[in-house]
Amino acid sequence: MKEGGPSWRTREEILRGLGAAYDLIVVGGGITGCAVSHEASAIGYRVLLLEKGDLGSGTSGKTSRLIHGGLRYLKYGKMKMVHQGTRERYWLRTNYPHLVRPLAFLIPFYEGVGEGPLATLFGLWLYDLLSGFSNVKRHRRLGPKEVMALEPNLRTQGLRGGALYYDCFVDDARLVLLNGTLAFRAGAHILTYAKVEGLIREDGRVQGVQFRDVLRDETHEARGRVVINATGPWSDDLRLMLPSGRNRLRPTKGIHVFLPRSNMGPRHAIVMRSPLDERVVFALPWRDLTLVGTTDTDFRGNPDEVRAEAEDVGYLLDTVNHTFPGAHLAFEDVVSSYAGLRPLLAQYGVPESEVTRDFKVVEDAPGLISILGGKLTTYRRAARKAVKKAMRMVGRANRLRSEGLGFRDLRMTDAELEVLRESVSGMGGLDPQIVDRLVASYGRDCHRLRTYLEEGNLRQRIVPELPYIYADVVFAVEQELALRLQDVLVRRTGLVYEDAGHGLSVAKEVASLMAKSLGWGKERIDQEISDYEKIVAEVEAFRWGG
Ligand code: FAD
Repeated sequence: MKEGGPSWRTREEILRGLGAAYDLIVVGGGITGCAVSHEASAIGYRVLLLEKGDLGSGTSGKTSRLIHGGLRYLKYGKMKMVHQGTRERYWLRTNYPHLVRPLAFLIPFYEGVGEGPLATLFGLWLYDLLSGFSNVKRHRRLGPKEVMALEPNLRTQGLRGGALYYDCFVDDARLVLLNGTLAFRAGAHILTYAKVEGLIREDGRVQGVQFRDVLRDETHEARGRVVINATGPWSDDLRLMLPSGRNRLRPTKGIHVFLPRSNMGPRHAIVMRSPLDERVVFALPWRDLTLVGTTDTDFRGNPDEVRAEAEDVGYLLDTVNHTFPGAHLAFEDVVSSYAGLRPLLAQYGVPESEVTRDFKVVEDAPGLISILGGKLTTYRRAARKAVKKAMRMVGRANRLRSEGLGFRDLRMTDAELEVLRESVSGMGGLDPQIVDRLVASYGRDCHRLRTYLEEGNLRQRIVPELPYIYADVVFAVEQELALRLQDVLVRRTGLVYEDAGHGLSVAKEVASLMAKSLGWGKERIDQEISDYEKIVAEVEAFRWGG
């Protein structure tokens, strides 16, 4: 197994050796594509992963960040899906405890709103049952006074009590990177900024792809025995490259906003109800901020142009102000926004929120397998199913190995996590907030940061208020395939969303540090900053009615 992680160096090697045929070409570097690449490489397949942007730059980096069974799906009788989700939640929490962390959710019960206390408590009991009572804790009923003691800023009018239950929270972009690193270590070739523009068909089979190296504007071909379409909400585009291709998705848009925590002060995740249509919206604590989402509306445009609009943000703010009457939050209080598209299976005649979150693996044409639908939580199941289907075509392997004994990767137990925390604290001179953040981001890989941390200037915070340091930037470039300024400021750190100025004040410094490894001159640095400004404009677009 390889050590370290992918970088601009490995990118050059892959591009030089493209003549060799692959067993599997995976298109899409979201959670699904990275996990497929990991599973397939682990059984010895030669895998090429092609991603048109950065790893996690699609839907997988724009989620509600929940690893959950999906309590609300019980209402639609989706027992099997909820059961699978809770099993995955358990697996992820116990194998990646640094990244997938338990989170307590408080549901306040209000007179005449939602399903009512009895039905909700029955649902919570079923939720615990379907998880085999394997959750961190069982749910608990609360009286109105207990609710107010836990969350004093909640609306009191009509409050009848509440309940506490547990799911998990994850840094979604980091979960994608972790799977990308696992894939790399198992032998996968990973090319980001490589956009598939055509499918090679020969003898009635898909036998490879044409792709563009977006950074150099060069086209290439890569050959593979099977192509896996893991492009999430873009997957119809790839299918339509075939003469027989047809649309199979009903994408829906969901947006989130980061708000200052001080106005609402939730200590738990809060399950809110929109005063407009009673849809559930979550308020999730994230360091000094609260992440609020999401919406769910049909989307018919270009998936590359999805963004939070004024109306979406207004809907979320109304829900927050209704639930926390003292918050008085307005547009100018919103720190940032982001929008993503759910790659849902086409199902019409039902409202957006009721479209199934199940996934499907289909053979669209000989040699082309597509993964449709699904959730972040169940990514392993979808990936494993797709690789099993590919195994029937490629042969040479008859069972998956990524969970097998002795297959080393980045997993650890809770006890190992504690030891790790102490050892990172022992690296000296880092404040506890930074230690916690490093452990949460890198897990076992913290030890790879040691050499960078020895340089005093790399131990400095990038902006004073947030626990990201310059060592994160160098690590991102050297071991996590960051090729552009936006890769660092959006996904390796969360500065674009968490910093009030979206990291613009430090963009030049960060780009200059990246330039040392990536060999950028002044012109390229300016280009990176100007492209990053466009991303910031999207995050801010809702303010100008966009
Ligand atoms: P993506 O992450 O979109 O990856 C597809 C990738 O393919 C993209 O990176 C894209 O750039 C790339 N690509 C596209 N076309 C090409 C091409 N031609 N060549 C090369 N690359 C290409 N699930 C949960 O379990 N928990 C949650 O809390 C949750 N919250 C959500 C909130 C919202 C608002 C949304 C929209 C979804 C949420 N989901 C959640 C669902 C979950 O995010 C998705 O199911 C999952 O991320 C899909 O992953 P993916 O890898 O299939 O797609």
